[in-house]
Amino acid sequence: MLIHNPPVEITGNLLMLGTDEYPLYLFKDGDEAILFEGSVGVVGRLAAEQMAESGVALESIKQLVVPHAHPDHVMAVPLFKELCPGITVVASEAAAGVLAAEKAISFFCKIDGALTDFLLKNGEVGEKHRIDPPADMVIPVDRTIGEGDTLTAGDSTFNVLATPGHSHCSLSFHEENKGILIVSDAASYYMPEGDYWWPNYFTSYPAYVDSITRVAALNAEVLCLGHHGVVKGTASVKAYFGDALAATEAYHQRIVDEIKAGVSVRALAEQLGKEVYQKTQLLPLDFFQKNCGLVIKQSLKHEGITGEEQV
Ligand SMILES: [Zn+2]
Repeated sequence: MLIHNPPVEITGNLLMLGTDEYPLYLFKDGDEAILFEGSVGVVGRLAAEQMAESGVALESIKQLVVPHAHPDHVMAVPLFKELCPGITVVASEAAAGVLAAEKAISFFCKIDGALTDFLLKNGEVGEKHRIDPPADMVIPVDRTIGEGDTLTAGDSTFNVLATPGHSHCSLSFHEENKGILIVSDAASYYMPEGDYWWPNYFTSYPAYVDSITRVAALNAEVLCLGHHGVVKGTASVKAYFGDALAATEAYHQRIVDEIKAGVSVRALAEQLGKEVYQKTQLLPLDFFQKNCGLVIKQSLKHEGITGEEQV
């Protein structure tokens, strides 16, 4: 079962907030809460409103966890830092490095602006939800975490797993007793409308496959995705991961076959990017084409295809 259209209560401990494209996950146990995902700036303000409507006290949020340093997962962090007194911003060391780089944050602000325009046009947020860009063009991280670390709230503990492949800095979080698994973008980009998969392995194809295989073996009951909602029920979660792996392997194989058949990297990136863009116009066509170029590069690297064969 796929649950979307936040705000919605997923379990007694877990709320999904934000928008369908950009969900945030509030986990609470007793009087302590952890907010997972740093979202798009404008969606952060919407999520804060949703929390107020759901009776969530902002001061109960002790930690804000950035699962990876991509612009659609971090830009509301400064807002929550301001709204939640004493909140600790948590991310991997690699993510903290990106968030400390002015050049990266300046680029993230541009993407955030484009996503804000899209969300406003679609009526998912209003002008009143706009927030200021981060001061000094950096997003400070208070605690860095990695494989083997834990995050606690009340009596609950999340194990931290390094799940690279989508990005070098991607982390996932597993609360074993409650069967909750939060993966952000580590396990593909799935669009339920049209049943479309975009396997977005931007930094490593084999690491991406290993990460999906690893989190699938946890047999979670609740799978919180970085986009488009939550998969609930052990069988549904298992099926999701099976489909994600199959889609990833098929995408990789298609890339390899087309390049071997003589299609140029550029032409293939343009085609694959066009296909994603046809499904979502969140960002301009060339953004998706550039990112598909990264995916192709990882597939070819894995197959050891270099030099002339790529031209
Ligand atoms: Zn991402």
